[in-house]
Amino acid sequence: MTSYDVIVIGSGPGGYVCAIRCAQLGLKTACVEGRETLGGTCLNVGCIPSKALLHASHQLHESQHNFEKMGLKGAPPKVDWKQMQAYKDDVIGQNTKGIEFLFKKNKIDWIKGWASIPEPGLVKVGEDTHKAKNIIIATGSEPSTLPGVEIDEKVIVSSTGALSLPKMPKKLVVIGAGVIGLELGSVYARLGAEVTVLEYLDQVTPGIDTEIARSFRSLLKKQGLEIITGAAVQSAEALKTKAKVTYKLRKDDSEHQVDADVVLVATGRKPYTQGLGLDALGVEMTKRGQIATDAHYKTNIAGLYAIGDAIEGPMLAHKAEDEGMAVAEILAGQAGHVNYDVIPGVIYTHPEVAAVGQTEDQLKEAGRAYKVGKFSFMGNGRAKANFAADGFVKILADAETDRILGAHIIGPAAGDLIHEICVAMEFGAAAEDLARTCHAHPTYSEAVREAALACGDGPIHS
Ligand code: NAD
Repeated sequence: MTSYDVIVIGSGPGGYVCAIRCAQLGLKTACVEGRETLGGTCLNVGCIPSKALLHASHQLHESQHNFEKMGLKGAPPKVDWKQMQAYKDDVIGQNTKGIEFLFKKNKIDWIKGWASIPEPGLVKVGEDTHKAKNIIIATGSEPSTLPGVEIDEKVIVSSTGALSLPKMPKKLVVIGAGVIGLELGSVYARLGAEVTVLEYLDQVTPGIDTEIARSFRSLLKKQGLEIITGAAVQSAEALKTKAKVTYKLRKDDSEHQVDADVVLVATGRKPYTQGLGLDALGVEMTKRGQIATDAHYKTNIAGLYAIGDAIEGPMLAHKAEDEGMAVAEILAGQAGHVNYDVIPGVIYTHPEVAAVGQTEDQLKEAGRAYKVGKFSFMGNGRAKANFAADGFVKILADAETDRILGAHIIGPAAGDLIHEICVAMEFGAAAEDLARTCHAHPTYSEAVREAALACGDGPIHS
């Protein structure tokens, strides 16, 4: 029986980052992973493969819509779906092998197989039992579905099936206008499919700033996505090679049906803790099926910790990574900590959508006095040159102190631009601090500075 300081269960962004940090801090560490490759949902069937398809389909969109304007002539490329899949698989392979390399470099043992915890301090994998002073559960999440909708990963698929469809659907119905639905919906729309998105609520991407959500919806509409809001899906029926989706419009309770070659169910995810033996151990769970932890990621069982999608909070790879680093530091006697007020969220459509901190809706509800600084990418020279002038930056700052309370961006490279605002917020900066920082010209980041200027005496270019 091998003994470890730490055994991490799960090698997604939460688990592998945690294992590396534990090893860096001198703890003897192993990580259990049952998949053939490391990296969890994110690297194998989530963030990374979807970004490969988003990139490829965006290039196609550029070739169809903008190449000719720049004097780049010739027929737009045709889609070779098999080759696009091979490219995506290669990207996955490079990333998962990268984690394997990092494990070797940091002397982390990869225990291959599915883990259970027969008793505190023990991890069983196959026939072997390993001892650990500390066990960290980082088992992530799995797609959840609706009553009346059974995922077969052929005709009715989750995000996993949607990333590896055997052939291009002519007609795709997406249930749920959340992050997954809109990212993958826009991939297939750009590749030529007719895409209909059915969303229960009255706006897309619940939780994001209403003004951004409105603008996002109309930009997606321009790209050809049909989005039906206020639509409660009742059932999805897989026929031989097609499917039929039934929904009710909430405004008048009328029932409608829509046919599809493929139905993508993107109605959220739930914690994945199956097979760990948590019930028998007596691990406390939340009402929503997450592992209950304290502020230091400790469960109610001594030496047992949990992080990432399996516990409370937004299901985001980077939130899990930060928790992984924090718990490793705590176990090494340091002061690991995550600032949940400054966790960015990004939707990798085109244009991208990014947010951090409070939305205008939240500030209104809290009765907080705030000011808004906005700047459109129409006033940004670089964006105009790159056919990327759709969208805007919106910074929310305290009316009296000017401290930045939140920022919301829809536009080119929004997912990268948001981070200068994250850093500013970590330092408790005022909008004026951003406005007085020199930003290189010509860059998209000038739009962030202009929005900060708009919180004060006004932007220059609008
Ligand atoms: P989500 O929670 O983002 O969106 C689900 C949507 O489905 C909601 O808008 C909800 O109102 C709708 N819905 C629920 N029931 C419905 C019904 N009966 N009929 C019609 N619509 C219905 O979930 P998701 O998009 O599946 O993503 C799952 C998780 O993965 C999220 O936590 C998300 O943040 C995360 N994720 C993040 C990224 C990213 O950061 N870029 C990418 C992919 C996934």
